[in-house]
Amino acid sequence: MTQKEIKFCLPVGKYGFLSPLAAYPIKMSVDGQLYNFPTVEHYYQAMKFEASDPRFETIIGLKNPDDARLITKTPAYKINRRKDFDQNKFDIMFQGLRAKFAQNPEAAKLLKQTGDALLTKSCKVCYQCGFGQGCGINRMGKMLMQIREELQQQKEN
Ligand SMILES: [Zn+2]
Repeated sequence: MTQKEIKFCLPVGKYGFLSPLAAYPIKMSVDGQLYNFPTVEHYYQAMKFEASDPRFETIIGLKNPDDARLITKTPAYKINRRKDFDQNKFDIMFQGLRAKFAQNPEAAKLLKQTGDALLTKSCKVCYQCGFGQGCGINRMGKMLMQIREELQQQKEN
């Protein structure tokens, strides 16, 4: 039997819930204070800046997670970033994704329903970015499979 593969990327369709852009809010403690993020993508992008930096809350306040990503590409957002962001970015994404499924039971249920399927972050852009199946060796897919395993183990306890 071959393993089923589920490809995801954008927050649309049956597996859109796997996307960090999907509208599942998370509450996270940053620099000693709790903040609400509309999506995991908002959290990831905001973490490029110190919580005391006005740009941090500007990002959280953006409606569209794509805008949260795009604003960090503008010149005013390329300077004075959190110094350890690049070093910690994969962990930041992982903590955001883990919080999403811990704090949104509906998303956790959907993730568990994917069983043992291979989850692959896949689109044209994913071949270039650090989380997709290209250069990033499907990093986000692996994160989601690890979180799924954690959820499945919780059920047994
Ligand atoms: Zn993609």
